Amino acid sequence: MPYLEIRKLEKKYKDFTLSASFGVDEGEFLCVIGPSGSGKSTLLSLIAGLDKPDGGTVTIDGKDITKMKIQERGIGMVFQDFTLFPSMNVEKNIQFGMTEKKAEKKKISDALLSLVGLEGYAKRSVSSLSGGEAQRVQLARAIAAKPKILLLDEPLSALDAPLRKSIRSSIRAIHDALGITMIYVTHDREEAFSISDSILIMHDGKTVAMGTAEELYRHPKDLFTAFFTGEGTALPAHLVFENMEGSVFFRPENAVISEESISAEMYPMHVVFPDAEIISCEFCGSDYILGLEYQGYPLLCQSATKPRRKTVSVMILKESILNLQ
Ligand code: ADP
Repeated sequence: MPYLEIRKLEKKYKDFTLSASFGVDEGEFLCVIGPSGSGKSTLLSLIAGLDKPDGGTVTIDGKDITKMKIQERGIGMVFQDFTLFPSMNVEKNIQFGMTEKKAEKKKISDALLSLVGLEGYAKRSVSSLSGGEAQRVQLARAIAAKPKILLLDEPLSALDAPLRKSIRSSIRAIHDALGITMIYVTHDREEAFSISDSILIMHDGKTVAMGTAEELYRHPKDLFTAFFTGEGTALPAHLVFENMEGSVFFRPENAVISEESISAEMYPMHVVFPDAEIISCEFCGSDYILGLEYQGYPLLCQSATKPRRKTVSVMILKESILNLQ
């Protein structure tokens, strides 16, 4: 049984229904991604107890917490809006939820400040902190209460890109040092790929896929997951394989580009799209991303070199083509 088990959790708003089922192992770092409005925050609110579900259960370590009060759940939260107490200094903010004796509190809050990279900040007033510093204090405060699970809802979205990268690495390092089970909501796929053990994808209130970043990227089970985890090309399946239904999907890096005219007979292991017209060619650092048109369909392909001709042939290894709905 997983450490955190979400079973048939339901929540209805006017035009929106959340329904979620999944499990998280102890010590796992789960990222939840999905478009805006897909229900990520609603899901966290239900786990935290900020909101009541219409059905289903939330279980931690075998114990049903669905009807428990927020304070009794042992769940910590870090949100995007800074919610520190402005009248207390940094140290008092961190010590707020702690039950230890005074001297012990001081030791722990100092250790936590050092863990989040804010040594010497204990007596600073909260209003003097930058956005990134305030987020680190919020993180320290949440950890100080020794949560069984820490929920983070887009904690870095108000920060600029370099700071986001540095704090997200700290969050992962803190996770690894303390072994806290974390659920981290983000709309940023790259962020989820870089810090998660596993990723849960939400779409229209449903939990549609769960797996490691590699599994979801390389073997998506549906087109939504395929496109949400990266770029690619979807084509009607019958265009490529006779008698196949649905769509076929491939990633740009699975395409091999040739400037020669190529016949399919020469490459039995590949699907060949001869003479695709180049619509766009963008340099992306290591390679070029080509936007092509083949028989009226757009193809997205990666190429190590910049084509000199206006048309190219595209070959894709059959085994790297997915049949998806
Ligand atoms: P996300 O975090 O993925 O952007 P949310 O969970 O915030 O998505 O919202 C999902 C849907 O639920 C949205 O359509 C939103 O309007 C609706 N919703 C969220 N909270 C409430 C609420 N308290 N009352 C009514 N509708 C809500």
